[in-house]
Amino acid sequence: MSDIIEDVLFSSSIIKDSDKLDFDYVPENLPHREEQLRFLAQLFKTVLSCIPQNVVINGAVGTGKTVITKKFCLSLTRAGRKQGKIIEYVHINCRKRSTDGMVLLGILGHFDSRFPDRGFSVQEMMQILSKHLRRRDAQLLLVLDEADALIAKSGSNLIYNLSRFSDESLKENNPISLLLISQKDVMGMLDISTQSSFKRSNVLYLNKYSSNELYDIIKQRVRLAFHKNVVCNDSIDLITDIASEWGDARLAIELLWKAGLATDDRKEDRVTPEHVRVAKSNITTVESKLNDLNLHEKLILMMIARSLKKGGAYTTTGDVEKLYRVACEEYNEKPRGHTQFWNYIKNLDAYGFITAKKSGEGIIGNTTVISLPDIPSKDLEELLMKRIKKK
Ligand code: ADP
Ligand code: MG
Repeated sequence: MSDIIEDVLFSSSIIKDSDKLDFDYVPENLPHREEQLRFLAQLFKTVLSCIPQNVVINGAVGTGKTVITKKFCLSLTRAGRKQGKIIEYVHINCRKRSTDGMVLLGILGHFDSRFPDRGFSVQEMMQILSKHLRRRDAQLLLVLDEADALIAKSGSNLIYNLSRFSDESLKENNPISLLLISQKDVMGMLDISTQSSFKRSNVLYLNKYSSNELYDIIKQRVRLAFHKNVVCNDSIDLITDIASEWGDARLAIELLWKAGLATDDRKEDRVTPEHVRVAKSNITTVESKLNDLNLHEKLILMMIARSLKKGGAYTTTGDVEKLYRVACEEYNEKPRGHTQFWNYIKNLDAYGFITAKKSGEGIIGNTTVISLPDIPSKDLEELLMKRIKKK
């Protein structure tokens, strides 16, 4: 038994440095995101003069929202230090911390690793945070990643209070800058008074990566993480093809990593397309993404699949909305209003399930047409039917 374990532990791997394939790793360079980093730098220049900024960063999964934010905040912190400004950077994942209290605990943990898990109210924790910042004469860059999870569960209160942090002592600027990251339209989810602290122009939208862009990103990871000449060019091409269906760098890197493991597993010394295929069959992309949708998004997506099953290349939002209302009746759900329906369509687009675009001139006129880029409608409908339970 211990032979088997040691065999694996000590065996050589084609992977030189697996840390470089970790999702938390921040590469020195981020190909094809230079312009976006420049936009953030331009916006947050004011922080070096102690004037806070807020921004919303939107984009589908794997478009680099988290990694560019990390890169940017680390650079800004360093630049501040050079000018004698103390900038603290805290990155909170709101899927893991989705209440006001849990977010604040995460922030206070940055300043005091022994801060107790319980015993303080939200208001007290806000005061303690204020004290930490004042004592250090510091500003805070607070990233709320997957911010929609916080807003859906706990509303906009915390974001409102943080964006108006120092209203009482009017003399000083708010020491807190907020960066909200989400796949969803979080600006639209905030209540009106909170929205007013965010400028409409302070939104960074990250497009899905094109296949050329993904190719460069994969090449970079191959260089960083693998020994020389062990990943075939054909394999890189295949990974690019698969991932570019979604425009998703996360999927690309996961495929690369799993293909490397499959190669080690078979004790071979080159990553071939066959290993990529093994890797792909291990990743159930669509299925895992479906779990992120709420019930109404699932119902709408199911109706889109149903209406495309008849064979057309696309359907229209008008048709889908009608079908959705019928589906709500069938499932005993109160249908959401037109505006909310639209938000859901936008979310489904951001998630990469559908492509929604304004139809040009022609028979349909000025309406929005929807297509399913990469999933057979029949499979999708079945996956969703399994997941939606009747009341
Ligand atoms: P998101 O937060 O939008 O879902 P991430 O920032 O987590 O996406 O990116 C997913 C993976 O792809 C991470 O491993 C990240 O390092 C990598 N990645 C994304 N964009 C780039 C890029 N432009 N260059 C290098 N790696 C990237
Ligand atoms: Mg992310």
